[in-house]
Amino acid sequence: MITIQGQGVSSGVAAGPLSFYQRAGNLIRRYEVEDREAEFERFKDARARAIEQLGVLAEKAREEAGDEAAMLFETHRMMCVDPDYEEAIEGFIKESGLNAEAAVTDAGAVQAEAFAAMDDDVFKARAADVKDISGRIAGILMGVVQGGIDSDVPVILAADELSPSEAVQLDRSRILGFVTSGGSGSGHTAILARIMGIPAIIGVGDRLKPEYEGREVIVDGGTGSVVVDADAETRERLMKKRAELIRRQELLSQLKGQPNVSRDGREIRICCNIGRPEDVRAVLENDGGGIGLFRSEYLYLNSDDYPSEDSQFKAYRQVLSDMNGKEVVIRTLDIGADKQIEYFRLPKEENPALGSRALRICLNRPEIFRTQLRALYRASAYGRLSIMFPMVTSVWEVKEARKMCEQVRKELDAEGIPYSDEVDVGIMIETPAAAVISDRLARIVDFFSIGTNDLTRYTLACDGQNNDLGRFFNTHHPAVLRLIKLVAENAHKAGIRCSICGELGADLELTETFLSLGVDELSVSPRSVLPLRQKVRETEVAAVQEKIMAELMGDEVSL
Ligand code: PEP
Ligand code: MG
Repeated sequence: MITIQGQGVSSGVAAGPLSFYQRAGNLIRRYEVEDREAEFERFKDARARAIEQLGVLAEKAREEAGDEAAMLFETHRMMCVDPDYEEAIEGFIKESGLNAEAAVTDAGAVQAEAFAAMDDDVFKARAADVKDISGRIAGILMGVVQGGIDSDVPVILAADELSPSEAVQLDRSRILGFVTSGGSGSGHTAILARIMGIPAIIGVGDRLKPEYEGREVIVDGGTGSVVVDADAETRERLMKKRAELIRRQELLSQLKGQPNVSRDGREIRICCNIGRPEDVRAVLENDGGGIGLFRSEYLYLNSDDYPSEDSQFKAYRQVLSDMNGKEVVIRTLDIGADKQIEYFRLPKEENPALGSRALRICLNRPEIFRTQLRALYRASAYGRLSIMFPMVTSVWEVKEARKMCEQVRKELDAEGIPYSDEVDVGIMIETPAAAVISDRLARIVDFFSIGTNDLTRYTLACDGQNNDLGRFFNTHHPAVLRLIKLVAENAHKAGIRCSICGELGADLELTETFLSLGVDELSVSPRSVLPLRQKVRETEVAAVQEKIMAELMGDEVSL
């Protein structure tokens, strides 16, 4: 038995075979081949299989989302047989004697660079496509499974850290839990695990060895332990814990339909964070009061090209109508920093977290923003939509974004397209700048939602991803809590509501603090709704408020 200690970031106990996430790009080997003709044939066979796979994907996309969605895969099929592409690969194999997987990768990179240098945006976008098909063909040549999971049964998935686009494309029905070597509690894998309601453990470093592939592991997301080949006693103990957690979850179910009111009558809304339209099911199952954060970037991450107005409209409409009149806050595109998307061709930056991301991209590239806003307003006719802008630092940014909303509404009026007149427009408070000027920002928006993941990172100048920095990344740091207090006060002075939609909202150790600060809403992963409701219902705010405020605002220097 081998026990590895990491950091649990999504609770629960699960057991299953360990499977390492497979990426073709990490595995490409290069060597010289003897039989160049045979190697070229090997490429052609793999390409034929890629074309076959793409045909299946195109059909699936056509059935689920129509011809437009299928178009991308059809384009990829055609690109596979592009004569220039084939010629480049043939050259690498026959002239340089390179093995097929390396030849495909190199030819893809050269062509992608050529596309990227073109002026025409349509051609520019082909850069990502050609890399994509090269990755697919190389993966087939190396026997790497598509989708990253090489197993027919559900697995505990091990990875370094999944990129956002890998995370959104996972087949969730095949994952029982996650273990990552790096990562942070507010990273994509952790967030995804919490939305899925399965255990996740991060920061195990290189202690999970490739030779453990396929062996049984038991993960405990509460304690952060990963046990490989557990002995009978450990297995029994962990399985008992699993049964107990399931029983507790069932008990919590009795809280469905109950209000989130403290013992002394303070009410707080508890809503959910989602990343994909399918997540609405979990929101309804857990009795979420609405959706406080729909990270719309999933649409962009899950696509090889800019998603069209229509495809976005359909996704937003689905969420709004499934939520049946409950509020849905859709956050406009938040990419950049750790969420990179190739077809956006963002400049390489020394400090991407401080660079071109989120609302900054939208304001600098209004055509992308306008498409999303049109889709959002069109969808607003089907439910209760609120729009939220991420990564705000200045008043002028919000004014400019609101002006674009106004223009879009005028366009829709002129085209006779219906939309709701009651769309609230709010902003995320996730930079120290926005928190400090929240008195001014409160006068030009309908609500605030505090993004504690980024607010903590930017306030502490530390992102918590680096295991060595654990003790510097204190999510309960008084600087962050004081900023939350300031933002809530400024919201209320201006008569607007204040929510918390970062991961801190689900931290039960802070529920009393948030109730004491008068936060109006917590938006959390669906599985956190009922434990939070229980905590709220056990709290007597008047009994703890004074002490909490004294600790927060006092000059005690032990913190
Ligand atoms: C946040 O920063 O707290 C937040 C909710 O946004 P994201 O985690 O998507 O950056
Ligand atoms: Mg954020």
